[in-house]
This record gives sequence, C-alpha cells and structure tokens, in this order.
Amino acid sequence: MLDIFTSTIAAVSTPPGKGGIAVIRISGPDTVRIVSGVFRSASGISVQDLRPRRVSYGEIVGLDGNVCDTGLLTVFRAPASFTGEDCAEISCHGGVAVTKEVLSAVIGAGAVPAGPGEFTRRAFSNGKLSLSEAEAVGLLIDADTKEKMQLSGNAARGSLSRELAKISGGLSDTMTALYAAVDYPEEDVGDEGEREIYTSVSKALLSVNRLLDTYSLGRAVTEGVKCVICGKPNVGKSSVFNLLTGEDSAIVTDIPGTTRDVLRESVSCGGVTLRLSDTAGIRQTSEQVEAIGVGKAVIELESADLIIAVFDSSAKLDGEDLSLIEKLKSLPPENCPVISVVNKDDLPPALSEADLADIDSFSSRVIRGSARTGPDSPLLQDISSAVAELFNSGHINVSHDAVIWDVRQRDMLGKARSSLEEAKAALDRGDPVDCICSLVEEALAFLDDTDGRNVDQKIVDQIFSRFCVGK
Ligand code: GDP
Repeated sequence: MLDIFTSTIAAVSTPPGKGGIAVIRISGPDTVRIVSGVFRSASGISVQDLRPRRVSYGEIVGLDGNVCDTGLLTVFRAPASFTGEDCAEISCHGGVAVTKEVLSAVIGAGAVPAGPGEFTRRAFSNGKLSLSEAEAVGLLIDADTKEKMQLSGNAARGSLSRELAKISGGLSDTMTALYAAVDYPEEDVGDEGEREIYTSVSKALLSVNRLLDTYSLGRAVTEGVKCVICGKPNVGKSSVFNLLTGEDSAIVTDIPGTTRDVLRESVSCGGVTLRLSDTAGIRQTSEQVEAIGVGKAVIELESADLIIAVFDSSAKLDGEDLSLIEKLKSLPPENCPVISVVNKDDLPPALSEADLADIDSFSSRVIRGSARTGPDSPLLQDISSAVAELFNSGHINVSHDAVIWDVRQRDMLGKARSSLEEAKAALDRGDPVDCICSLVEEALAFLDDTDGRNVDQKIVDQIFSRFCVGK
C-alpha cells in the first residue's frame, strides 16, 4: 500500500502490438528525474524546466545510452495531473521493439512496472476520482456498444458521484439539526423543525429509490441482457434472430428442427445490449442430435434475463407449444420478462381467442407481426420498443442521468434505503431524536460506501484488478 505513494510507475498505455504510435505513461514522485534520463528535448530545455502540459519534441535514449527513437514528451506537475502526482507521457513510434525499448529505458532509469489499473487507482487514492468515476473509466475502455460508452462516459464525468453527493449533502444538513436537538434537548426542535427533518429524509429516500430504479437498465447496458429466443420448430425463431441481428446468421428453412445447437450474437436493441441465443425448438424428439439441442434450450431458458417466445399465428397451439407455455409459466416472471412474438400474421390467422389469452397470461408483452418483412419491419420496431419499456431505457437517458450499474452499488444503496425507511417510520412513531440520528447516520455511511473513500480495501483491490495495465 505504501509503495503506491512512494514509487514511480510506468507502463505502455496504448494496446499491445504494432501501432502508428505508442504512449508510455509515467507517474510518481521521481517522474521528472526518471524522464530526464531518457528524453532530450530538441529545444535544449531540460525536462525539469519544460512547461507542464505542453508538448516537446526530442530524442529518446535507450538503455545502452544510444538514441532509440524520436518522439514527444508531455509533463504534468502534481496535483494537476490524472493521478494527482507528477506524471509524464512519452509518445514514440508504435513498433513492438521500439515501445519495449522505451519502456525498458524508463524502468532502467528507476521506474517500476505499473500493475493493472494502477494509474487510475492512484487517481482514486489521491482524491482525483471518486470510486464510481474510477469504475466508469474501466467500463469506458471496455465499451463495445454506443450505450455502454454513453453510460460510462457520463459516470466518468461524475454524474453518479454528484447525485450521491447531493443526497448525502441534504442528509448531512439534517444531521446538523438532529445533533442540535440531541445536544440541547431542552430546546424543542419544534413542529417546523420536525417537518423539515421529515421532508429531508423523504426526499433522500425518493432520490435513493430513483437511483435504484436505474439498476436494471445500467446492468442491461453494461453487462448486456441474456436474451433467449424460444419456440417450437418452424415458428420463425431463426427469422426473428436474423431480424434482430440484421444478418443471415441462423439457418432459415421450412424443415422443422434445423437449429440444433445454440447460436449466439450480441445486438443493440431498445437502448440495451441483447446477448441473443437462438435455441433449438423445445419438443419431444427421438432424433439424438436434436434432443441434445432441446436439452440445451431448456438450460438456456432457465438462466435468461429476457425471453422472446415465438408462436405461429397461422396454426392452432399444439402439444409442443403447450409444453413450452408450461415451461414459461413455471419461470418466475419478476426475474425474467417474456416478450411473446405471434409471428406469421401475413398468413390467415388460426390462433383462437383462448390461445391468445393463454399466451397473454405469462407474457410481459405480446407482439403480432411477421419476421419475413426485413430490416424496416414493424416487428423489429415493436420488439425494440418492448425492450426499451421493460428496461426503462425510454425514461432514463444514460448520457445525462445518474445511473447505477454494479451489484455492489445496488446493494449499498439498498441498505441506505432500508435505513431511511426505518428513519421515516421512527419519525412517524415519534421515536426519540437520538434513534433517528443513528438511522440517518447509518444511511449516510451506506451512501459513502457506494462511492467514497471508506470502501473496504479488498473491494477497491478487486475493482482495480479488472483494469488493464497502463490505465
Ligand atoms: P425456426 O425453425 O423456428 O427457427 O423457424 P425459421 O425461422 O427457420 O422459419 C421457418 C419457416 O417459416 C421458414 O420457411 C420461414 O421463411 C418461414 N417464416 C418465418 N417467419 C415468417 C413469417 O412471418 N411469415 C411467413 N409467411 N413465413 C415465415
């Protein structure tokens, strides 16, 4: 732990392999001395005297004392740097050997190789970033969809931290009033004071609940939603899969039982990432390969976050549909919403009102349409709107609003909610002030644990170990 603050670390911050340029990042108290040993500016100004945050061109000296490359140096002086320490960035040519040589020279001059996420961890330890901002930086680097980039960029710019600070700030003011009442019991808080305390606790509870409501969307954007497409053979599952992916990845034929394995693909849909799997139709089969596929389909269903169940509107429900329906009814709806697609509505309808009512009974949404109509298909738009509604993405703007995405954040806020609910109930009962005081204090501690510096060291270690070296 001490090492974090006394050593000077270095790493290649650009991705491994060959590139146009590479950036070697250095941070720590010895940065200027170390960089002076490897960089000679063309202007002749020593590294010590270079203007911070201005780029200088010069020669980079390798371990053997010979010039190994030319490049650019930017020096940042503490505390005005990403980590809050003295920092430098050397941009050199991005060849594998050149990059390795420059890093070796920096390490030869006294830096130590940085661990995963160590630059961001130092930024957190030095108060430059809150925990949620630091976590969001990691997400931003991993972001492979636009929504994930927007959510993490927004959180890295502090939206969640600001919201949490606002809630804590309001509660801290309440604590001041409560302490006064504890310290001077003879001076009655008065009706107005009590009302203010009640309003403040209720307001905090509302804000905490609002944040908790963003979790399913936050998780759906950052982790993706495990979405399983199911239905008996030949109802159009592969056609729905292809409609969502925009490609012909699944084989579409009119021979029942052609999807025998589980096909997987990630797509953006309704403001979230769907991690799709197209399964073999669920039915009794004597054919061995298909039977394995059916077994896999059942396992997939049980671990899904969202199910798209496909039915054929041009045929009556039969035994195979009914056994799927039975399976779907047995899944807990709060864990896994079902969107039922009543497909092939370009053909004469055959499903009865009773069949449709049966489908409706376990479905979060029922959509009628045709998977044959291609990319402008109203069916695709309807599925997308249903996903947006189910994951709240229509009401929450991940580029602007404070959003939580991590199970740890949800658990901490959940505990803060319980304390605030108890505080509210205690106020309703007219419990003694010191009891309310300790409940509000408890809520404040949980809020602090969501984003603050008091978080357990092991949790912090875990968070930063997920980062790459150089970040
Ligand atoms: P799966 O076995 O459930 O994956 O079904 P497929 O997607 O392979 O489709 C089975 C057959 O139904 C194929 O011949 C498709 O072209 C056809 N099909 C799929 N969707 C529709 C639709 O909306 N209307 C019509 N008329 N045929 C469809």
